[in-house]
Amino acid sequence: MRKKIVAGNWKMNNDLNSSVALISEIKNLLASKSLNAEVIICPPFTSLDAANSLIKDTQIKLGAQNMYYEKSGAFTGEISPLMLKSVGCQYVILGHSERRTIFGESNQLINKKIKAAVENQLNPIFCIGETLEERESGVTFKIIETQMREGLEGLTAEELANLIIAYEPVWAIGTGKTATPEQAEEVHAFIRKLIGELYSTEFAEKLIIQYGGSVKPENAAELMSQPDIDGALVGGACLKADSFVKIIESAQ
Ligand code: 13P
Repeated sequence: MRKKIVAGNWKMNNDLNSSVALISEIKNLLASKSLNAEVIICPPFTSLDAANSLIKDTQIKLGAQNMYYEKSGAFTGEISPLMLKSVGCQYVILGHSERRTIFGESNQLINKKIKAAVENQLNPIFCIGETLEERESGVTFKIIETQMREGLEGLTAEELANLIIAYEPVWAIGTGKTATPEQAEEVHAFIRKLIGELYSTEFAEKLIIQYGGSVKPENAAELMSQPDIDGALVGGACLKADSFVKIIESAQ
């Protein structure tokens, strides 16, 4: 059986003080609970170091929301894999739809970032998903397949041993419109099948595939009870400690 992993993508929210407050609340709510899910928080870069100190000796793990693929150099404004590791990150979200649409990230750029992450022992949370227009014109699976083939090109199953894929339909992100459990499961099953074809069924069976897009305490349990949904990548609802913890507790 695959474990469940619930990650909170804070996006561009919380300064240092409010990050410390939110993490303290999450910690208090989770303290001494035995959980069925692994928990990852992904605060903004400016809060990672403080977050790392606060989550020592807890069940919470740390991730970043993005990074560049070079180790160091003249790349003004960018953050390297080594920098993320130096502040305790074990995970990094790559290819989020907001990076793709607002910042123009291509599958090829995301592929370089995934390669850099695995070379530096950071576990990628690789986001894929179709827009509403793509869904309505019936090309969802084609889009997902292209994002996966191009994003993972040249990477071996060994290199991807700690990969997480997050299926986030763009039309469900921040809109309150969640994919139905059936809609999400259909795409998750497709993703797993394709990973089986690209790598092996053994690898596909182990792969963690999270769902993201308007996950809330009210819909988390049903989504995560689907056979191919192994957790959630939560945006808005992870900014409130009680709703984030309720989502974590929905994982069975
Ligand atoms: P929302 O949960 O706010 O829809 O965001 C989902 C998301 O983009 C997580 O990465």
